[in-house]
Amino acid sequence: MTSYSSERPLRVAVIGSGPSGIFTAEALLKQQDIPVQVDVFDRLPTPYGLVRYGVAPDHLTIKSVTKGFEKTLADPRVRFFGNVEFGKDLTYDEARERYDAIMYTVGASSDRRLGIPGEDLKGSMSATEFVAWYNGHPDAAAREMALHATGVVVVGVGNVAIDVSRILVKTVHELRESDIAEHALAALERSAVKDVWILGRRGPAQAKFTTKELREFGELSAADPIVKPAEVQLTEADEAAITDNVVKKNVEVLRDFAVRTPEGKDRRVHLRFLVSPVEILDDGEGNVGGLKVERNRLDEQGNAVGTGEYEVLPVQLVLRSVGYKGVALPGVPFDAGRGVIPNEEGRVTGRPGEYTAGWIKRGPSGVVGTNRKDATDTVALLLADAKAGALPRAAKAAASEVDTLLVGKNVEVFTFSDWQTLDAHELAQGQEKGRPRHKVVHKADMLKHRKQG
Ligand code: NAP
Repeated sequence: MTSYSSERPLRVAVIGSGPSGIFTAEALLKQQDIPVQVDVFDRLPTPYGLVRYGVAPDHLTIKSVTKGFEKTLADPRVRFFGNVEFGKDLTYDEARERYDAIMYTVGASSDRRLGIPGEDLKGSMSATEFVAWYNGHPDAAAREMALHATGVVVVGVGNVAIDVSRILVKTVHELRESDIAEHALAALERSAVKDVWILGRRGPAQAKFTTKELREFGELSAADPIVKPAEVQLTEADEAAITDNVVKKNVEVLRDFAVRTPEGKDRRVHLRFLVSPVEILDDGEGNVGGLKVERNRLDEQGNAVGTGEYEVLPVQLVLRSVGYKGVALPGVPFDAGRGVIPNEEGRVTGRPGEYTAGWIKRGPSGVVGTNRKDATDTVALLLADAKAGALPRAAKAAASEVDTLLVGKNVEVFTFSDWQTLDAHELAQGQEKGRPRHKVVHKADMLKHRKQG
């Protein structure tokens, strides 16, 4: 049995400061059995991962979860190391030497592809990139978006598809109430978008979005929801087979949209079902010139099967929103097929003292809060292993070891206090403009808020 004390606490590195990373730190702090010291690393200067860069900018209430995150990061047993990239600034071996346990909570930063011709044309991209762009992610802020498009397709019927479609059809007046990045607000103000098609390859009863998000399409000031009645018809047997309340409500809302007379608003959101994209068409100059889709039917197992009937949608921008995908970390095992770190309930397979939580553990599903239980479950295993003496003991366990390492590598660490300064700056700048926040989007500008030394 290995013992930990306030002089020699259990040293845990958390890689990734999104919700699962912060919930990990929170769960470690909550328990009383083992004194802990938690270092949370992020490759970006800013903490909170998808809460800052993924959650829709107009869903500000979801972001209020950061109030609790702040408390966690402000705890004296926790240190935040922003702008530190795992695998480069802190390698796997360097982390192993300095920590008794490592928790990987890096989420799923890439996306799934459609695997159809034309996917690399200009104007075809992942919803992930589009979301990162409008949320002011430093990697995406400088991108140009094809908002000269009058028609846009969003492939997939999950909540991400709903988010990007709503942002595309909201007015600037509506968007100003959100914390959308300033560059995106300016670009969307000039946007020519009139029609957005959201495509489900299966039926309305198989859609993944939630009802609250779907309903928002009925409440937009400048866009009408359009649904083809035939595409939301269900057989009596299919109807009877619905047991899930969310699905039932989704179908009700879609039927309501289908019988509404459009109010003639400037923009339209078309929710289409039983159609699959088969080819993104070239306009002759390497840009998206349309999307060829095939009508589907559902087979006995509920899978989409093509019928050989096609149509072309007049679009110039195609956003695939068919799921996020995890990316491998240098030195850490990875299941490339599933896009996750192989693990048994959060214990990394074959790696004592290494753990994982969140999307990189189980795949990209669930809402922010889902990751609290997920992280707490893994932390329970970590603590059980610690109590059982099953963790390798860090050779360089002094807290200062990591500081020395990073100083030696000239890494410009962004601390929690630096983040608080940047956060206050963004809020103040937002207030001046009558907006909830004005996001700083370039890394070099964020680092200007760093206290030197
Ligand atoms: P998702 O919910 O898994 O939805 C992915 C969609 O892509 C599904 O409709 C899927 O259809 C479709 N799809 C997959 N491959 C396809 C293909 N080749 N062709 C056509 N369609 C295809 O994923 P997500 O929207 O990225 O969301 C990720 C998670 O974040 C979800 O748990 C979501 O609820 C959550 N989230 C929540 C909120 C919120 O609470 N407001 C906002 C955003 C995201 P099939 O079912 O047919 O595979």
